[in-house]
Amino acid sequence: MSGFPVLVAAELRELIEPSLLDGLDVTWLRADEPTPEGDFVAAIPLLSRWMGGTEFKRLPQMRIVANCAVGYNNVDLVAAEMRRIVVTNTPDVLTAATADLTWALILACARRLLAGVELVKSGGWSGWHPQLLLGLELDGATLGIVGAGRIGQAVGKRALGFGMKIRYASRTPKPGFEQATGARRLELKPLLKECDVVTLHVPKTPETQGMINLETLALMKPGAILINTSRGDLVREEALAIALEEGRLGAAGLDVFTDEPDIHPRLRAAPRTVLLPHIGSATLGTRRKMAETAVANVQAVLAGGPPLTPVVP
Ligand code: NAP
Repeated sequence: MSGFPVLVAAELRELIEPSLLDGLDVTWLRADEPTPEGDFVAAIPLLSRWMGGTEFKRLPQMRIVANCAVGYNNVDLVAAEMRRIVVTNTPDVLTAATADLTWALILACARRLLAGVELVKSGGWSGWHPQLLLGLELDGATLGIVGAGRIGQAVGKRALGFGMKIRYASRTPKPGFEQATGARRLELKPLLKECDVVTLHVPKTPETQGMINLETLALMKPGAILINTSRGDLVREEALAIALEEGRLGAAGLDVFTDEPDIHPRLRAAPRTVLLPHIGSATLGTRRKMAETAVANVQAVLAGGPPLTPVVP
């Protein structure tokens, strides 16, 4: 087979319509295989594969890394820039799916879904009781969105249907979002003090890493709920486990962790958590669109054109 030699994550194979790969000579690379040396001109990695200076040294012809995710913290952008390697991501196509999953976590935490399921399945349910598994009433409660970008705003728009008030923290104001939802912008600390549910949607950067820690958790309302569907590194996991153990935090709904697939043992054992295996964008339609967006970026750059969705740090 002839064509541009490209590396593509093998796990994406069944999601990509073969005709989209016309003109590409694909080497399918499993997640557990190291990045090989070679004259590959493009790579479509999963977010679990680090692409940095060492990898780029082994790939002297590389022209584009088309990450199959909207986050791109697995790519060393400085090293890429030095080599003039284009980096792209897959924004927008996964916004709705990730916002939906965020709401699945909010509802599961607020209404103690897992405790209810466990009670029924264990045979321990002894009938309707007015005080059984009382949860948080979302109607009239306040949702705090940390990072009101694409996904944060989509989560906020869904909150209107649940009658929630909305606060958000973002580097720049979002007047359109405020107008559409009545959301009010706050600094992080006042937001944490005011909100009943806090949901994280900032990317992982040096500024956001560890932003939820012992000190900031202590600012949250007693019984508040923390949701994270962005990146695990935003939260100090041991500090979160302690806040749950001590009963200060009402619940935590997490889709992402610092050392995936490992989870801090104290957090895994902590009470009132809903822990998911990083499935924010996991619908078939979304995963297909993510893979196809990555391939379209590769095809555009190899054809000499601009990338469709370049990463803008
Ligand atoms: P986005 O549109 O770029 O939104 C990120 C927002 O964070 C931007 O509005 C940005 O503010 C804001 N921000 C950045 N640094 C900040 C800081 N220090 N303080 C406050 N706000 C800050 O990205 P997105 O498409 O919504 O995706 C967000 C993240 O979700 C991704 O980075 C990814 O890690 C994660 N994600 C996870 C899954 C999953 O499977 N669980 C799926 C998709 C995405 P400005 O607008 O003011 O610059």
